Amino acid sequence: METRLRAIRADITTLAVDAIVNAANTTLLGGGGVDGAIHRAAGPELLEECRTLGGCATGDAKITRGYRLPAKHVIHAVGPVWRGGGHDEAALLASCYRRSLELAIAHNLQSIAFPSISTGAYGYPIEQAALVATKTVREVVARPGPLGEVIFCCFSASDLGVYERLLRASAI
Ligand code: ADP
Repeated sequence: METRLRAIRADITTLAVDAIVNAANTTLLGGGGVDGAIHRAAGPELLEECRTLGGCATGDAKITRGYRLPAKHVIHAVGPVWRGGGHDEAALLASCYRRSLELAIAHNLQSIAFPSISTGAYGYPIEQAALVATKTVREVVARPGPLGEVIFCCFSASDLGVYERLLRASAI
């Protein structure tokens, strides 16, 4: 089955998908932005499970249960801090998306929603980050697998516009 890719504007904590991705930091012990929102909505059990994981390297991801969230799982991915573009940021960001999808596939998940990783507090320019995100997701879902839907969950109307344009464009 083909995987459907789409962009929406929403609070990711409200989505009833198999997994939402968290833009986490290397401690996995919570933070601001989408990370804070996910922990608040999931409840304290999420932090308890995260404490057992021993952190996560930049570019990697780890999966937990979703607790009080409508989503069944949370995949905690650690994006790079933008340092001008010459510090492997694109490869590390691509790795976040790839590792998150690999975990979803390994757990036989059918739907996953990503926030715009690294483009908040971590400062990654949205146009460049969205290009990495859509390109990497397209590469991974080109192979047959369980994923029926990948959602790019944007927080702002302008981010949504960027993603919609990239998704309309044929594979780049
Ligand atoms: P990072 O540290 O990886 O940059 P942030 O959480 O600061 O992570 O920002 C990542 C993106 O998530 C930003 O586009 C931000 O606007 C967005 N965001 C913040 N809260 C939510 C939410 N509840 N749902 C979806 N996206 C959110």
